[in-house]
Amino acid sequence: MLLESFSTGPFDTNAYLLGCEKQQKGIFIDPGLGSKDLLVTATQKYHLQIEAIFLTHSHWDHFGDVAALKKVTDVPVYVHKDDVDNVIQPGVDQLPLMFPIEGVKIDHFLEEGGLYKVGDLEIEVLHTPGHSPGGVCFFLREEQVLFSGDTLFKGTIGSLCLETAEANAMWESLKKLSKLPPKTRIYPGHGPSTRLENEDWLDRAKEIFSE
Ligand SMILES: [Zn+2]
Ligand SMILES: [Zn+2]
Repeated sequence: MLLESFSTGPFDTNAYLLGCEKQQKGIFIDPGLGSKDLLVTATQKYHLQIEAIFLTHSHWDHFGDVAALKKVTDVPVYVHKDDVDNVIQPGVDQLPLMFPIEGVKIDHFLEEGGLYKVGDLEIEVLHTPGHSPGGVCFFLREEQVLFSGDTLFKGTIGSLCLETAEANAMWESLKKLSKLPPKTRIYPGHGPSTRLENEDWLDRAKEIFSE
């Protein structure tokens, strides 16, 4: 597995290049504003063929450069159907846009349990609503790696004070993540990576984060 992360934009959103070195295939995860050139350069460095753009959710800071990347790579864009509207028409989710964001057409819907191959890597989709209705995480069972979007960060969770948020769904989603293998390495939508075993508060999240 090959992984590069770039933190860009006003909220330091993490964009990821995930690839299979052997088959030289890769995908972009959450290419936010300012990530395009970094991702393209990394792709060239590793001689990867990009096959898709995967979005953990539809908040604009996570897909600001998708339209620009689509022009360069012309690959399909994947998002959960419950988060699709804001990607097509940025701003309809009521979150204030700090920059003009170009909407993009969605090519495929991600759904719970969906499996995707990127070279020799297998990516499993976990639907984790709460921060947004169509929030998903990407789990590589073999490699024990999870891309957690804005569902789970090191030591905390994504905001529940948004139009798109639903606290009860978040508690259930965190419980689901708590059952993954403890050694799972977490790569979140913002901030540093962590390991699931270091986030032993997940099943108490409701007590900790409820207002
Ligand atoms: Zn978000
Ligand atoms: Zn975010």
